[in-house]
Amino acid sequence: MDFKLTPEQEMIRDMVRDFTEKSIKPVAALHDEEKHFPYQNIKRMADLGLMGMNIPIEYGGSEVGVIAYSLAITEIAKGCASHAVTTSVTNMVAEVINEFGQDEIKRKHLPKLCNGEYPAGSFALTEPHAGSDAANIRTSAVRRNDTYILNGTKAFITSGEVSGVTVVWAVTERNSRKGKGISAFLVEKGSPGFKVGKAEEKMGHRASALNELIFEDCVVPANCLLGKESEGFKIAMMELDGGRIGIGSLSVGVGFAAIDFATQYVKEREAFGKPLSSFEAIQWMIADSYTGLEAAQLLVLRAAYLKENKLPFTKEASMAKLFATETARNVAIRAIQMLGGYGYTKDYPVERYLRDIIGTTLYEGTSEVQRIVISREILQG
Ligand SMILES: Cc1cc2nc3c(=O)[nH]c(=O)nc-3n(C[C@H](O)[C@H](O)[C@H](O)COP(=O)(O)OP(=O)(O)OC[C@H]3O[C@@H](n4cnc5c(N)ncnc54)[C@H](O)[C@@H]3O)c2cc1C
Repeated sequence: MDFKLTPEQEMIRDMVRDFTEKSIKPVAALHDEEKHFPYQNIKRMADLGLMGMNIPIEYGGSEVGVIAYSLAITEIAKGCASHAVTTSVTNMVAEVINEFGQDEIKRKHLPKLCNGEYPAGSFALTEPHAGSDAANIRTSAVRRNDTYILNGTKAFITSGEVSGVTVVWAVTERNSRKGKGISAFLVEKGSPGFKVGKAEEKMGHRASALNELIFEDCVVPANCLLGKESEGFKIAMMELDGGRIGIGSLSVGVGFAAIDFATQYVKEREAFGKPLSSFEAIQWMIADSYTGLEAAQLLVLRAAYLKENKLPFTKEASMAKLFATETARNVAIRAIQMLGGYGYTKDYPVERYLRDIIGTTLYEGTSEVQRIVISREILQG
């Protein structure tokens, strides 16, 4: 077993680490405070090749592989979870289009996603009444000549208001078995009948947009169908497997940011005439946090390795996402504890890390849904 990164993977990790230090960390608190989408940084990250990391070079991607992608997302998240989730979802959308789009669609949209001309891509599955139970969506798509007409509402769509393209799941066969009659469509920003609804006011990920999307007789050309008609639910589940590697990687980054900050703090802050770091209770928090995060990163990188090598990775991606998000959440809570009252104020970033990390146990499948996926994979052998 080889735990060594390749020189290229190390180079990408170090490049993103440097970018995060210089360009993301200094602006993260302000973007969070002002709920400001980081257009400028996202464009610069696209220029660095971070928006199509598993997309072939001929379509504008950097094609550096899933392990490099995971390392990059972790490094970005050490600076800001919102930058990282935008990058993760945009990469996921690019992958759906690359795997299931017709060639003309790929040529039209992938270069713009990869080079940052589109500030983001979005993935629209959830509806107001159907989140965990995603097969229960009601948005409909009806074929009319060489178009599909979409009607319905999506909820909680990351980057909804900023994205150039959205992948939308809709029911094309009303009477088929649950999950069977759903198709995936690429919908361009500005398509007739496509409106961005309300922006959610959320506790974390505040520099990333989260919107309702409304489709009212929205006209989509038939060549924007992704994959085969009525086989879209499988596509959603497959892509979410990959997305979970992204969110696991993001969580590891937020967790390390929290414990790195708190560890530095306890070395400098004194109580009872000694640095806080000299107390065993504090040392144990440090030990438990780094041990948990390193274990989480190993799970995430294992899932990334499997995906990169085209091996099954559904269970491993769910395990990685479940463990990484919950471990990082516990680490962020500990980091606040280590800072005492200061940890609870906006003078320090650890309260933002906690607000951000809580979201990761909810989207791309809640922790409960991960446990359902993992146990199903185990029980079904
Ligand atoms: C920050 C953020 C970003 C998001 N981005 C996107 C996006 O880009 N695209 C998109 O399509 N969606 C997105 N979502 C939506 C997200 O995927 C859903 O919120 C999530 O799937 C949960 O659905 P729900 O909110 O309807 O909760 P519900 O499904 O109503 O669940 C409520 C609770 O019940 C539990 N539960 C439900 N069913 C079961 C069960 N069978 N067994 C045990 N427990 C169960 C859940 O785990 C949860 O704890 C985002 C959400 C957030 C918060």
